[in-house]
Amino acid sequence: MFETRAAVVRPGSGTFTWENVRLEDPRPDEVVVRVVGAGICHTDLATRDEKLHTPMPAVLGHEGAGVVEAVGSAVTRVAVGDHVLLSFSSCGHCSACQHGHPGYCETFIARNFGGRRPDGTTPISTPEGEPLGGRFFGQSSFSVRAVVDERSVVAVETSGEDELALLAPIGCGVQTGAGAILNELRPGAGDTVAVFGAGAVGLSAVMAAALTPATRVIAIDIVPSRLELALEVGATDVINGREEDTAARLAEITGGRGLTHALESSGVPALLRQAIDSLAVGGTVAVVGAPATGTDGTFDVNFLLNGRSIRGVTEGDSDVLTFIPALVDLYRAGRLPFDRMIRTYRPEEINEAAADAASGAVLKPVLRFP
Ligand code: NAD
Ligand code: ZN
Repeated sequence: MFETRAAVVRPGSGTFTWENVRLEDPRPDEVVVRVVGAGICHTDLATRDEKLHTPMPAVLGHEGAGVVEAVGSAVTRVAVGDHVLLSFSSCGHCSACQHGHPGYCETFIARNFGGRRPDGTTPISTPEGEPLGGRFFGQSSFSVRAVVDERSVVAVETSGEDELALLAPIGCGVQTGAGAILNELRPGAGDTVAVFGAGAVGLSAVMAAALTPATRVIAIDIVPSRLELALEVGATDVINGREEDTAARLAEITGGRGLTHALESSGVPALLRQAIDSLAVGGTVAVVGAPATGTDGTFDVNFLLNGRSIRGVTEGDSDVLTFIPALVDLYRAGRLPFDRMIRTYRPEEINEAAADAASGAVLKPVLRFP
């Protein structure tokens, strides 16, 4: 047992509060990580606001980057001193995990949103012994130190801790957007890709689409600064959904044929409907935006029959041990400039950082731990 500081969310509070907490020593399959950087993803905000599955109180944070300080007796993936990125957890045994699709692990929701280890325990408690939800995405990295599931840990090459901190968003937002394009949609020559929602996930998708032979890459949002950045990182066209008729512009850009590929990252059901309605015959929309649990969406059944499909995608269908280092290499080669989305904050500024992400002022806040 050892003490550290973590940002705790209490039920109904809608805010993060830094508290002294106790962490258990690592189990055989766990790793202690000193957190260097932690990205804030929209999923942290929706979870803080109790719109997703995690019971409160809990410690959130699921885009951690840090240095390994201790390893459990059975850990083989990493060693003390390694620089690591933290990503989602998976079981490693189910059919999806065995086939290299851990994002579709049978136990994904329980392991990543449950706030507990699979055996029902949590490694985090208050100094008085009150249990706090932990292991959020295997990590709960809004914390100076974190006890992390070995399957959430990926060793990466870096030039030092400053670069390591900037790589943190790869663990969720960047791999979600980039993976939806590179692993799932895989557009080919002549294809037209539209990304609905140019937030951190959507812009990562735009950057990845620019690495494919797709002819047109279209970003749709309502925040002008996000659309400007989209053009700088690879979009060929942008649409401001508040000022323009999105359906008409998409019809014009595609010569009336519709989109071969679309990605919905806004989490707004009306935009998902627009994405589906904009598909070409045989086109596919990948759905990654996550509205509140229980939200319904609609589609015209007969329209779908012409070979169109709607595909939900978790974490970019990333096989973290291979895909995360590949994204690091693309970044270091200057081909995936997701650092352009980042503003760093001190950990004590976490609520300001979250507010800036929610308002659209900042694309990807990263807490930089001293
Ligand atoms: P974000 O808030 O940065 O991005 C959402 C974007 O949608 C914003 O730029 C916003 O301006 C835009 N938007 C909202 N309403 C719009 C409208 N009516 N028209 C056009 N644009 C609109 O969030 P993010 O971190 O990029 O995450 C995006 C979504 O993906 C969230 O719902 C998040 O929970 C989810 N997510 C899912 C996965 C997954 O594995 N499926 C992983 C990470 C995040
Ligand atoms: Zn996320």
